[in-house]
Amino acid sequence: MDYNKKTIEDISLSGKKALVRCDFNVPQDDSGRITADKRIVESLPTLKYLLDQGAAVIACSHLGRPKGEFNEKYSLAPVATRLSELLGIQVKLCRDVVGQDAQEKAAAVKPGELVLLENVRFHSEETKNDPEFAKKLASLADVFVNDAFGTSHRAHASTAGVADYLPAVCGYLIQKEIKVMGQALDNPKRDFIAILGGAKVSDKIGVINNLLEKTDAIIIGGAMAYTFIKANSEPIGISRCEEDKLDYAREMMDKARSKGVRFLLPVDHACAEKFDAGAAPVVCKSIADNMMGLDIGPETIALYSKEIEKAGTVVWNGPMGVFEFESFAEGTRSIARSLAESGAVSIIGGGDSAAAAEQLGFADKMTHISTGGGASLELLEGLTLPGIACLQGK
Ligand code: AMP
Repeated sequence: MDYNKKTIEDISLSGKKALVRCDFNVPQDDSGRITADKRIVESLPTLKYLLDQGAAVIACSHLGRPKGEFNEKYSLAPVATRLSELLGIQVKLCRDVVGQDAQEKAAAVKPGELVLLENVRFHSEETKNDPEFAKKLASLADVFVNDAFGTSHRAHASTAGVADYLPAVCGYLIQKEIKVMGQALDNPKRDFIAILGGAKVSDKIGVINNLLEKTDAIIIGGAMAYTFIKANSEPIGISRCEEDKLDYAREMMDKARSKGVRFLLPVDHACAEKFDAGAAPVVCKSIADNMMGLDIGPETIALYSKEIEKAGTVVWNGPMGVFEFESFAEGTRSIARSLAESGAVSIIGGGDSAAAAEQLGFADKMTHISTGGGASLELLEGLTLPGIACLQGK
């Protein structure tokens, strides 16, 4: 995929109406109160730039999964309120997405003002990327700005479809994602190392396969390590294992050998008899029949940290163990620390690895934490992301 895309700084915005796809999919409590406004805060640099340049902004987003019809529970009203507070201007919320109210408010919005459309997923046409719906949405504006990296791997009307009808560029969030990750994939500072962990091998099949073409070393942790260890005919006790992925695991290790890519598996483990937050960790090299591995052990931490010290670029996706249990968080914490202290370009995939880096206090020491879990995995798989491919090249 070509990562060299036009940004909001490459086009003239004064007096233009800009349809901006944001990611306002914020967590809320039962009463609808926003429990973390990070995604709204992160959208501000792009929105402020557009407003300062004299654009009239028509923002849109999805929130939750409303299944193609209006549902008060998924209204963007709380987002409009928070966005007004953060921007210090009145944000008007439209009662619909492409209906009369949206058309009237979009027609009336002036340079330096912002209106917010209702949840785009109130229409089933959104996720079907219906061309008529995309055309109606596009008719509200003069230019399209995509800044929702987290949905850029989806070909939806508001993430890709509208680009058939409007000149399309990216905002600052997507610009950073493709700059940092694109550079790592195309022209990394070496050694280029991937650290992959988390629950399942099956989630990362494409990622491992693609990264074997690009990296100098792949480091495996988390539950997925046990499928690889078993594939090497070593004992894993009652650790999580995907029996149907053993052949694939062998194939990947063979591919690594033939390409000269170092493929590192844990050499010791923090185990327990049960999957239990209160269980006391038992460190071992060979896992007993009644034990399950829940974290990488101290020798593995030392081995992996040495690899990280040699690295020029590190991409990390997936925790090294059950970091939600304090007794089994040490592997993930130590690897995060090694990464934070290394001079390497450090890139953390979204989702659980981003949550782990934040929860363990290392988030601000990383070069880049992706704002999209699924989207960053697809980038690492080498797939084309429709919400990025549709943007104009430089
Ligand atoms: P993922 O969503 O694939 O990144 O997986 C993250 C989840 O994997 C976290 O909730 C971890 O608790 C879990 N996990 C990591 N290591 C292990 C392990 N050794 N056994 C069971 N679950 C694990």
